[in-house]
Amino acid sequence: METPLIATPLHNRLREGLARMGVALRSDDWLRARDAGLNPTQMTILEALEGRENGLSVTEIALNLGVSQPSATDSINALERKGYVVKQPVPGDRRAVTVCITDAGRQSFLTGDAVEGAADQAIRALSEAEQADLLISLIKMIRHMQEAGVIPVQRMCASCRYFRPFVHADKTRPHQCDFVNASFGQRDLRIECREHETAPPLSRAATWEAFQGGLSTLHAT
Ligand code: SF4
Repeated sequence: METPLIATPLHNRLREGLARMGVALRSDDWLRARDAGLNPTQMTILEALEGRENGLSVTEIALNLGVSQPSATDSINALERKGYVVKQPVPGDRRAVTVCITDAGRQSFLTGDAVEGAADQAIRALSEAEQADLLISLIKMIRHMQEAGVIPVQRMCASCRYFRPFVHADKTRPHQCDFVNASFGQRDLRIECREHETAPPLSRAATWEAFQGGLSTLHAT
C-alpha cells in the first residue's frame, strides 16, 4: 500500500493537482462561454483580442489557442458571423487579414468574464500571501514554457519592455512600470496586460535575471 513515506515525487503530485484545477477551469470556461453565448474556444479568442487595438493575425490567434490555423479560422468565422470580430486587410499583403474585436464582441466577452466559477472561488479561498506566492510560481512556469517555445510570448510583466524589477527600495512596491511611470508590488504583477509590449530577447533575459535576483534577496531577508 502506498503511504506518505513512499509517495510519488513532488513534481508528479503537483502535476496531478494542476490537472484537477485544469478540469475545474475547463468547466468554468464552459459556464462563462455559455453565459456569453459562445463556446470556450470563441471565448478564448475574444479574450486574446480584447485590448489589442491592432488586432491579431490568424497565425497569432492559432498560436495563442495552441490549435491549427484551419481550426482557428473556423472559430474566427463563427465569431465574425455573430458580429463579434471583423477582419481587416493588411496593407501590402492581399492574402493576410488582421482580426479585431468589435464592441458587441467586447460586451459578450465581459458578460462571460464576470461569471465566478468554482476555480475562482478556490483561488479566493487562499490567503493573500498564498495568492501572491502562487502568482510568482505561475509566472515562473509560464515564462519557462514561453522561453521553451511551447507557448507564444505572453502579455505579462516578465516579458514587457516597460518592466523594471526590484528598482525601488520600498519592499511593498519594488517594481517599476515605465508605461505608467509608477512603482508597484509583487501581487500586482500582470499575467495579461493590455499595455504590454514585448521586450527584445536579450533585454527579456536581463530583466528576468534581475527579477530572479530580487526574489532571492527578498526571500533571504
Ligand atoms: S505595461 Fe503592463 S505588462 Fe508592462 S510592466 Fe506595465 S503593468 Fe507590466
